[in-house]
Amino acid sequence: QKTESPKNKPEKSKINVRHVILVLSGKGGVGKSTVSVNLAYALSSHGYQTGLLDLDLHGPSIGKMLGIEDMRLQAIGEHIMPVKVTGSLKVVSIALLLNETDSPVVWRGPMKAAATKQFLGEVEWGELDYLIVDLPPGTGDEALNIIQFAPNVEGAVIVTTPQDVAVLDATKAIKFIEMMDLPVLGVIENMSGMVCPHCGEVVDIFGKGGGAKAAEQYKVPYLGAIPLDIEMRKAADEGRPFIVRTPGKVSPTWDAVDKVME
Ligand code: ADP
Repeated sequence: QKTESPKNKPEKSKINVRHVILVLSGKGGVGKSTVSVNLAYALSSHGYQTGLLDLDLHGPSIGKMLGIEDMRLQAIGEHIMPVKVTGSLKVVSIALLLNETDSPVVWRGPMKAAATKQFLGEVEWGELDYLIVDLPPGTGDEALNIIQFAPNVEGAVIVTTPQDVAVLDATKAIKFIEMMDLPVLGVIENMSGMVCPHCGEVVDIFGKGGGAKAAEQYKVPYLGAIPLDIEMRKAADEGRPFIVRTPGKVSPTWDAVDKVME
């Protein structure tokens, strides 16, 4: 199957960004938003001007994960002001535009394309070193739109759990990125084993090694594994990135995020 990549179409947004990094998975619930939030936070805390764009239009969770779900994007004239989480981290998510937090976004393709263009071109992002884009699972409109409209797309980080069904879908995401003529920056295996809080034994709830195997099979970098960690779940629900727990340095369990930054 030959699908033409929209990468080189001329309709690029005027957003001023050096590197756009997509975060993609085959399946939902594998930790894309968690990786996006922590990666963006890590980059910004290293002094890079960073934008985080939540393109998971039907299931946006970035606002909640950063504890900014009650804030709203402000429109000034024709421009949209992103929510500033810190001096170097700005966020845009559809959830920050809705009046009700439980309102579903019921949009067909053309509306998604229009929104993506607006999120890039009409938001006052300023000058960005990085734009991290949290995508919905799979290889649909949102991914095609961002590849078409964003300049300087460096490639994608693929997130998977070690489980066979997740890995199978992750390999589709890898192939999709390659069809788009973009590099896969690497694969992260999330929810990879859990240390039992009672006996200290590691339990591989979703299996082990699927991410590394997929990376090897498709000859793309393997960035590492992130364990299933109750503190990470708590951090997300409390609205603060997990890595904030170790100020000034990325937690040792997050060397996968560190490697993306390299
Ligand atoms: P996705 O964006 O792929 O749908 P999320 O990042 O929203 O996935 O993660 C799904 C759920 O799992 C969230 O509640 C999140 O807090 C939790 N989660 C993700 N990764 C981990 C982890 N390594 N340990 C514990 N909980 C995690």
